[in-house]
Amino acid sequence: MKKVFKAFFEKFRREKAERPLSETANTQPSVEIHPLKKSERIIEVQGLTKVFDGVTVIDNMNLAIKKGEFVTLLGPSGCGKTTLLRIIAGFETPTEGQVFLENVNVTDVPPYRRPVNTVFQRYALFPHLNVFKNIAYGLKIKKIDKKVIAEKVNAALKMVDLEGYGHRDVSSLSGGQQQRVAIARALVCEPKVLLLDEPLGALDLKMRKDMQEELMAMHKRLGITFLYVTHDQEEALTMSDTVVVINDGVIQQIGTPKKIYDEPANAFVADFIGESNIISGVMLKDFCVRFLGQDFECVDKGFAKNEKVDLVIRPEDIKVYPEGDEKGQLVGKVLSSIFKGTFYQMEILANEYQFTVQSTKESKEGDTVSIGVKPDGIHIMKKLRSTNTFYGKVTGEDTVEFCGTEFTFNNVDGIEAGTDVEISVDFDAVSLNDDETDGDLGGNVSQTLYKGKYYQVQVYTDTDEDFFTDTVDDWDINDRIGIKIDHSKIVVKRLENEE
Ligand code: ATP
Repeated sequence: MKKVFKAFFEKFRREKAERPLSETANTQPSVEIHPLKKSERIIEVQGLTKVFDGVTVIDNMNLAIKKGEFVTLLGPSGCGKTTLLRIIAGFETPTEGQVFLENVNVTDVPPYRRPVNTVFQRYALFPHLNVFKNIAYGLKIKKIDKKVIAEKVNAALKMVDLEGYGHRDVSSLSGGQQQRVAIARALVCEPKVLLLDEPLGALDLKMRKDMQEELMAMHKRLGITFLYVTHDQEEALTMSDTVVVINDGVIQQIGTPKKIYDEPANAFVADFIGESNIISGVMLKDFCVRFLGQDFECVDKGFAKNEKVDLVIRPEDIKVYPEGDEKGQLVGKVLSSIFKGTFYQMEILANEYQFTVQSTKESKEGDTVSIGVKPDGIHIMKKLRSTNTFYGKVTGEDTVEFCGTEFTFNNVDGIEAGTDVEISVDFDAVSLNDDETDGDLGGNVSQTLYKGKYYQVQVYTDTDEDFFTDTVDDWDINDRIGIKIDHSKIVVKRLENEE
């Protein structure tokens, strides 16, 4: 069950209602690299790739971070956030690409010579040293004068609100206090950038909330750049100036929390950030989209005529009217209705799509209602992918190898064996089986998106390639499955540079 970020949503709901339509209109969304002048950039990665044991964890990433901002790397577990942070810190070397700090190429510079310091989730304090000595450690190594060390350590203790704790044994401190010592230890060397790797992950909820506020206040006071890693959407949205959403080692979107919530670049971002209704549709023309068999006015433009799109409607943007009310556009049946304190959370089935709806007005389970959405409540997104594309080689008269497996195909163009080719496999040519041995190859489910009559599922093969398919079955993340391909639908083309 996804979280509802009540306070955050309430604020957006109010702001959205007050905004003129022209401000909510947008053209075709895309991943945009933070447009920064050179003098504004403090961290930059260019063409960054990291491969571990043959698996690409960061995939040709470009990112620039603005001096003084609180920037968060947000994404699901395993998406590569920590790896990116560790490469910036210098603890990991990139397989390809470069890292710049203050516009200086530091790709080959060791961690201790970079103007950054890292705070880890596990505080990594020295248990045999007291609080003062833990914080002083880095300065002592640099052979700084004892008096200066004392001044700096005391200033750092003050910064993290631990004045008078210098003599304490670190093991006598609470988790939150230990984390503050770790932050003080990172700050005492006066880094230009503080890298924070899920620093609140080990704390309980209450302490986590308190520390979030402290970190925000500290960021304001210090004026240095914070680069923060988390998989917690609420934490990212409440704390950051800029959020970088990552999935599978690829940046999906960069923007303010508000932009990412209001205008997600694609279905992944929409689904990952908050509750959403994601539906497949067709952009008939500028400002007009068809979905669930009906045409709707929207505020988006710049898509090709009849382009297939994904669209998101947030639960709070769906209006519920009494049965027969002409203000609504779809007839719906209320499947469930739960009071959540300030609104009713309802599941409403309309045209075979199960909408999640939040409304201050109650409708009861079993009611027939009329539901509608205003043009600015519909946000159009480019499809993540319209077909599966792979690269491989023709191996025989009617055989082609891709994803580490040989398939038969209809070789209409008479492509010779040994030719490098591009292979397209439409979503509807792929089916998934419980039993791995029933498939042409095995894989693991990595994402599922509810799209009404079906789920869009992403599956990773053992050769680190992924298939998208639409299926009526609701698979769990990491389910081990068999991928079956309809060989008659495999389309093979010579690569363009091939004869
Ligand atoms: P989490 O939120 O769970 O920490 P993350 O987004 O920070 O996830 P990373 O720690 O960057 O993810 O890991 C990305 C992928 O790289 C994972 O599949 C992980 O197992 C793999 N990985 C990370 N470090 C190594 C390593 N040293 N050797 C091999 N694989 C690694």
